[in-house]
Amino acid sequence: MQQTKKSTFDCELCQDTEFIFNAESNSAAPCKCRELKFYKRIMAASGISDSDKSKTVNAYKPKLDSEGKEHIEQKKARTIATEYLHNFQTIKLGRNNSIALLGQPGSGKTHLTIAIANELLKRGIGVLYMPYREVVTQLKQIINDEEEYQSRMDKFKMAPVLLIDDLFKGATKDGKMNESEMRIMFELINHRYLKQLPILVSSEYYSRQLVDFDDATGSRIIEMCKGRIVELKGKELNHRMEGL
Ligand SMILES: [Zn+2]
Repeated sequence: MQQTKKSTFDCELCQDTEFIFNAESNSAAPCKCRELKFYKRIMAASGISDSDKSKTVNAYKPKLDSEGKEHIEQKKARTIATEYLHNFQTIKLGRNNSIALLGQPGSGKTHLTIAIANELLKRGIGVLYMPYREVVTQLKQIINDEEEYQSRMDKFKMAPVLLIDDLFKGATKDGKMNESEMRIMFELINHRYLKQLPILVSSEYYSRQLVDFDDATGSRIIEMCKGRIVELKGKELNHRMEGL
């Protein structure tokens, strides 16, 4: 008697080989799952801890104050993330298609942005993980090799969704942006802005600082994320609430 076995393949089409063989032409063509798997590999190889990688938006628990109320900004961040995922198919169509979680370390920015990225990847939407410091340092090193630079840059420009982790980390000195990083980031953000390609941003800087560092880049990010910018002022906010 035959048993129906559950498939062990992520992709039935290519049985996880990422290529589809065409017997007629005796050639292989990349499977449609190939690009997605590329994004998943990058995410898996990132420095993000395994526990962070497996987190979901629902698992995000805002801190509670002494009265047991959820931290207001963290709660807002979770609501925005949930709505973003829920309406992504419509949201992605306009220029205002992105999300920014800003503020101090330990406030859950990484948890939420990664959770959004994982959920989109699960749905088959390509999200490229871009650890800001690492990637920008590499791009600066190859900036004079135009071909190499453009081919690397194109990945970040054209990914269906781009997760920029820790935007502008280490990019400023005395409140001023490093010139070549400023140019690289303008090229990247402006492209995604014009092509209406979403970004998921986490940064320790607040929106006003993003604009102060570089008006052209900062204001485009803010326009893309309008209505979905959360400034997580963890400790300060808690402190103020205690005083009420
Ligand atoms: Zn496949």
